[in-house]
Amino acid sequence: MIPAPFDYARPATLDEALGLLAKHGDDAKLLAGGHSLLPAMKLRLAQPKMVIDIGRLPDLRYIRREAGRLAIGALTTHYDLESSAELKQSCPLLPEVAASIGDVQIRNRGTIGGSLVHADPAADWPAAILALDAEMEIAGPQGRRTVKAGEFFVDILQTAVGPGEILTAIRVPQTSARVAYEKFAQKASGFAICGVAVAENRVGITGVAAKAYRAVAVEQALAAGRTDAADRAVDGVDVLGDIHASSEFRAHLARVHTRRALERASKRA
Ligand SMILES: Cc1cc2nc3c(=O)[nH]c(=O)nc-3n(C[C@H](O)[C@H](O)[C@H](O)COP(=O)(O)OP(=O)(O)OC[C@H]3O[C@@H](n4cnc5c(N)ncnc54)[C@H](O)[C@@H]3O)c2cc1C
Repeated sequence: MIPAPFDYARPATLDEALGLLAKHGDDAKLLAGGHSLLPAMKLRLAQPKMVIDIGRLPDLRYIRREAGRLAIGALTTHYDLESSAELKQSCPLLPEVAASIGDVQIRNRGTIGGSLVHADPAADWPAAILALDAEMEIAGPQGRRTVKAGEFFVDILQTAVGPGEILTAIRVPQTSARVAYEKFAQKASGFAICGVAVAENRVGITGVAAKAYRAVAVEQALAAGRTDAADRAVDGVDVLGDIHASSEFRAHLARVHTRRALERASKRA
């Protein structure tokens, strides 16, 4: 459980961090909260030669209003999101999801950006980010670009953030009505065996497939006024099966939790 030897750098600015990434290429890994990277390093699943600690970059930890939307810095911790009075008012889905993550220690150190870029199929944030139709701001050697949440998650542990790039911010619309997150958690870690986020007429599902997805079939059935929309939670989806839940059980969980999330969201409308 001891990581392979590595060098360590703590840049003072985003530009310095980007410069270090460019210099060390595939040998480097960014460190944010460390709650996914350090376990992987201890198990020697990741063996970076250079760890670039962006965890204390001052300008990437914030929650603020920007042109009618809410902007969240990538280094904002799960606890910051859980306890934000601003978000409880203007985007309560985010504090609700944050409160369901792991335990207090995980929430105090883990960051929304680290979780999103790690793209664990059982992570909670992707469901909410998809349901909110968020925009992700990514900085790289060529400047900044924006990617919609629907194009952000590429595959298991893979996102649109390329080599040499840093996720800097997440922007979501203010959405205070018709939101809910329903989760069936793995008991030991809290990770989602199934997690369903609803925001207005959009539904994001995590834990069920190799990557989180928008439940388009559910959304279409809702738009058509169908009362059995939740039954379509895994339509067209290759459902995972593992030691925690068979694919049949996960599909069942997805339908049940989608129904519960839709019901609770409509009560909040
Ligand atoms: C015991 C335990 C229980 C947990 N339970 C849950 C749970 O219930 N639900 C859940 O969703 N998660 C859970 N997690 C995961 C936790 O939320 C992590 O904090 C999160 O997944 C990673 O965030 P981090 O800031 O720690 O990232 P790190 O571990 O520092 O980094 C993760 C990866 O992302 C990269 N990275 C980090 N930040 C950026 C950035 N801004 N731009 C580009 N790349 C970046 C790193 O290089 C690394 O590859 C759990 C973890 C543990 C150890």
